[in-house]
Amino acid sequence: MDSFKTDFEKQLIDEQLHAANMTTFRPYPFPGRLVEIPYPLSEQGRPLAPHRLPDYCRTHQFDLPSCFHGKETKLTIKDASEAAECYVTLECNVRTSGEEPCPFLINLSALLRDDDDYMEFCLYRRLSDSRKRVLHCHYLLRT
Ligand SMILES: [Zn+2]
Repeated sequence: MDSFKTDFEKQLIDEQLHAANMTTFRPYPFPGRLVEIPYPLSEQGRPLAPHRLPDYCRTHQFDLPSCFHGKETKLTIKDASEAAECYVTLECNVRTSGEEPCPFLINLSALLRDDDDYMEFCLYRRLSDSRKRVLHCHYLLRT
């Protein structure tokens, strides 16, 4: 099946595999390109646990990366049987019939474990919606 992939597709997959950061696909200007984005930090200034990314998107000015379709990726948690620890990936979420999932893949666990690369981090701004004000009130009540 790999033989049907174009050089451009192979180049993107290779680029993603070797990127030191999380990557997202920008379809325009054509033919599109892969862009590295800084990994989110928690309010405590530590790299966010990968499984918390969907929640972080709801509360911060941060979106999950886009796959090669230009659509939001899906966070998947997998069990690595041999290591007895799970790993978290971002993958294509296209499920429409007649549409083929693309090979977009970020292994977040591996990315965060790798100390050799120069990874960028960023504390994204919080969104100020009512839900967050409620959370803030709860916090104040507890202290
Ligand atoms: Zn896709």
